Amino acid sequence: MSNVPAEVAELLRRHDRILVAAHANPDGDAVGACVALGWALRELDKNVLLYNATGFPEYLSWLRLPSPLLASLDRLPAPPDLVVALDCGEAKRLGSDLSSLLNSVPSINIDHHPGNPAYGSLYNWVDPGMSSTGEMVGMVAGALGVPLTGVLAESLYVALVSDTGSFAYDSTTPGSLRLAASLTEQGLNVSAVRARLDNSWSEPKLRLWGRLMQEARLLEDGRLAAGLVSRALLDELGAAREDCEGFVEQLRRVSSVRVAVMLREAEPDADGRACTRVSLRSSGADDVRAVAAQFGGGGHKNAAGATLPLDMERALTVMLPYIRHVWSRDDMRAGRIPPCPSAAPRVV
Ligand code: AMP
Ligand code: MN
Ligand code: MN
Repeated sequence: MSNVPAEVAELLRRHDRILVAAHANPDGDAVGACVALGWALRELDKNVLLYNATGFPEYLSWLRLPSPLLASLDRLPAPPDLVVALDCGEAKRLGSDLSSLLNSVPSINIDHHPGNPAYGSLYNWVDPGMSSTGEMVGMVAGALGVPLTGVLAESLYVALVSDTGSFAYDSTTPGSLRLAASLTEQGLNVSAVRARLDNSWSEPKLRLWGRLMQEARLLEDGRLAAGLVSRALLDELGAAREDCEGFVEQLRRVSSVRVAVMLREAEPDADGRACTRVSLRSSGADDVRAVAAQFGGGGHKNAAGATLPLDMERALTVMLPYIRHVWSRDDMRAGRIPPCPSAAPRVV
């Protein structure tokens, strides 16, 4: 039987100058997986470089990096001989710099997003059954014989809690809990990591979440919660874009809510058109990835995102029929309402 983590480990051993990257606007899984793999490769005396098109968020700046973090590939001293892409369901989310480098440098793609088209030229390990890419990197580090301690362990823990909602979502698998147990057994100080993650708010973030909760909209008989974050609000409070991270999960907490959506005003596109970054959340069988996919985005069944070339109000309006379909499809399946195909938007 093939042993995928061991095969990945063997390929890593055969290369020396390794560039480790993840999707732009990285979350805890993307950052944690990159930092953990970077430290594992350092243990093997590899030449490691980290790359992220938009850099890492400030709230994870306490994770000590194994190498410099590049946001551009203009000044690479020499081309890498291998690229490892982590937590990235499609090559274009790596950023244009890196996705074009994939044409000339061999690549390994390690990811858990459904629909990942296996864009790695050397190896693809895509398993949507994995809780997080961090879990997969933990298995590779294990196959490399690297101890899961120190910053490597902290990063894996950050990845796990980020993608399982602290072991609360459907993505909480026996494998994710086993890895957490193994990290704890090997000496990880869980409460210290949690304190870094949880007790790190700035006053602007506190005020921002207060305003967002106050102004949240409950629509569709309470089944949809929507939060809109304008650039003017962030400016007024002195809050940063990353201060919005995690807010959509708060909207999901209202018991009547089936779908939570956060819309954030992004920079206008190259043609000066308004752009909105959308984050969607649901629970159980309710599939918000299908909604995001309609607008060129993606993600997982219960957590997905997309960027729409519209202002926030228009983005909410155009998404609404597709969002309604999330619960109506489930209700139909459960026989709670009679099917009415003509009312259902096309969700493929
Ligand atoms: P977010 O709402 O940004 O926390 O993202 C939730 C999930 O959807 C994560 O797994 C993201 O990787 C994924 N995702 C977000 N935006 C996009 C996008 N534009 N294309 C594909 N996947 C996305
Ligand atoms: Mn991610
Ligand atoms: Mn992930």
